[in-house]
Amino acid sequence: MGIKEKDMVDEFPKNTLGGKTCYNAETCFILNRKQGLHKNEKIDDTLLSYLNTCKREIIMEIPLRKDDGTLMPVKAYRVQHNNARGPFKGGIRYHQDVDLAEVRTMANLMTWKTALVDIPFGGAKGGIAVNPKELSEHELRRLTKALVAHLGDNIGPHIDIPAPDVNTNQQVMAWIFDEYAKSHQSTSPLAVVTGKPVEVGGCSAREEATGRGVAIMLREHCKYRNKDVKELRVAVQGFGNVGYFAAKIINEELGAKIVGVSNAMGAVYNADGINVEDLKEYESTVSDSFKGYIKAKEVPRDSVLTCECDVLIPAALANAITKEVAEKTTAQIVIEAANGPTTPEGNEVLFERGIFLVPSILANAGGVIVSYFEWTQNLQQYYWEYDRLVAELDKRMVKAFWDVVDVMEEKNIGARQAAYFIALEKVAAAALLRGF
Ligand code: NAD
Repeated sequence: MGIKEKDMVDEFPKNTLGGKTCYNAETCFILNRKQGLHKNEKIDDTLLSYLNTCKREIIMEIPLRKDDGTLMPVKAYRVQHNNARGPFKGGIRYHQDVDLAEVRTMANLMTWKTALVDIPFGGAKGGIAVNPKELSEHELRRLTKALVAHLGDNIGPHIDIPAPDVNTNQQVMAWIFDEYAKSHQSTSPLAVVTGKPVEVGGCSAREEATGRGVAIMLREHCKYRNKDVKELRVAVQGFGNVGYFAAKIINEELGAKIVGVSNAMGAVYNADGINVEDLKEYESTVSDSFKGYIKAKEVPRDSVLTCECDVLIPAALANAITKEVAEKTTAQIVIEAANGPTTPEGNEVLFERGIFLVPSILANAGGVIVSYFEWTQNLQQYYWEYDRLVAELDKRMVKAFWDVVDVMEEKNIGARQAAYFIALEKVAAAALLRGF
């Protein structure tokens, strides 16, 4: 191909995740342009630069009054990247390492994700720089409600719609809705946030949706490459919402073996397979740890990334698949369940080794797709049943996967570049038609 994707990252070191330069959309776009892939001449450098710039960045200092009466100022961010195709949409993360650069990068990813899977949203992301495990439930509730108050009319059902991400869950979404509803009683306030509990306008399939989408990607990949999914051994990094449901559905519905699982505190490996439900139950009884689990071998946490497996699913944080991991992995397919889990160097090695990579904007789009269903149902006050939600999710994920494969094959490029190619064409078309 001549130009290496990694070189392009070095040339445009704009986006960072976890403090490191990451693989970004602009990289793919410039690469696409240099390779003459876009036929629309209006997709030029100025448009690309505009589309990679965030429309609005909100930085907040939230005063949290702790249970013991002391004051704890907390930094929070909401970045709205692009809304050419619809209201801004993206999760809120609570993590001590959250910073503006990371939120900006993730907001950017959301724009391309929603475009790729063709739902009428733009991209945004939010974060609070706090370790939620150090806060009581009362403090978390106060902090969440204070965040909503600080955001004011910068969020709303037709403006910007948050959702869960790392360390935020249905409960946090219910608090967001409640606080917003106090001052917005006549504007379908349920639709201000997705990922809510079913008792408060949520969608039965939302919690598992991102993991289910990951499983669908594995199933479709097996069809594409003519593999028997039941013969595959799968390693999963991260056992939270996404990692747990991905592992569970891949094991219970597709029949593949889960051989390795890690969480922030450790990892386990069993070549004969791990019972996902049993491990989850154990984890919840032993304060989030796998320590002492006797049905699999305890191994160093990060060894899950390079353990003997056919499928590697990074479902934790950014930058997990480094050059070293990419060189060592025995996996033939990597499904990026997390956002930005592959470093530019790791990406290069995977590409050179011919390892099929399902990029995060495709692999973890299941969550935002079902969020879209939740949002439309909140606006219409008409709720679908679980089976319909799952069937519609499946249909959209399958279409997006094969759209990417078609572009890959037609243009002889990798899946990541193909995914960004499709997304850019859609966002650029909307922006140009709207007269941006
Ligand atoms: P979560 O907080 O529910 O789970 C995160 C998991 O990762 C936990 O099990 C944690 O222990 C583990 N973890 C943290 N650091 C680790 C490390 N160094 N090694 C191994 N495990 C580690 O978060 P989540 O919602 O499952 O999100 C995971 C990833 O998926 C994030 O990158 C997020 O942005 C992305 N994502 C989530 C959704 C969603 O619907 N929740 C949607 C799209 C993308």
